[in-house]
Amino acid sequence: MKFVVSLRALVPALVALMATPLSACPEAPEPREQRFENKVWQYVWDLDAAATWLGEETAPIPANVQEYRDYANGQADTDPFVLLARQREIFEKVYGPQSGVVQSFRLIEKGEVGRIGGNICVESMLMGEHLKYHPLNVPGSEFSAHIYRKGTRLKVFAAFFEQSSMAAPQVIIKAAAAHELQQNGWNLVAFLHNHPFAFDNPYGDIAGTVIPSEPDLMTFRELFQSRGLGAAWVTNGLHSARYNRADTDRLIKTEGL
Ligand SMILES: [Zn+2]
Repeated sequence: MKFVVSLRALVPALVALMATPLSACPEAPEPREQRFENKVWQYVWDLDAAATWLGEETAPIPANVQEYRDYANGQADTDPFVLLARQREIFEKVYGPQSGVVQSFRLIEKGEVGRIGGNICVESMLMGEHLKYHPLNVPGSEFSAHIYRKGTRLKVFAAFFEQSSMAAPQVIIKAAAAHELQQNGWNLVAFLHNHPFAFDNPYGDIAGTVIPSEPDLMTFRELFQSRGLGAAWVTNGLHSARYNRADTDRLIKTEGL
């Protein structure tokens, strides 16, 4: 009898649970700020539901991101480890199999450095914004973002190049402003930037790899040291790699930087 009563009480709760999608990505709200500075668009978003934005993405994702993924998957095998191996083989020919950069590829491919996985909600939201400036038919470009968290809130500062460029644009947050954010309890949980594909590269390096470049590693180190960065993320719009401070130090040492 007791069992029957508790089961009946449980059913509505179970039904409610099943009807609630597991952290569906919220729709991208309007940015609080949008300004154009030195050929770069600087955006600021204030977002609620931090855990959802930082959670694994679930449908719906922005339509232009889905289009981009379909396009990329039509061009090549976009498995992040296949892409790494493919680029590593090219680097081996140019720099030699014992070179530091090739060793870095191997560490990441073996899973000894960084963690590779799918995108999270805030990444596909930013990728969707990026693709508004850089649709599929124009050469790739990069964006950067500093993601701050305080409890259930996020502040996302992002920089988008209006024109094509193969370097990450600078997110402009003055040291004093960053200090003030920290004083007010905001933690810089992530630095994110993207690595575009180059499917038309005549030399066969289609890029889109989630390995940090030398300048990336310098940026990561600076942010870990001066701004208490939590993690550095590199995405290609389909998958991301996440690096902590120890990962960054190991790659810097491996490459002798
Ligand atoms: Zn990079």
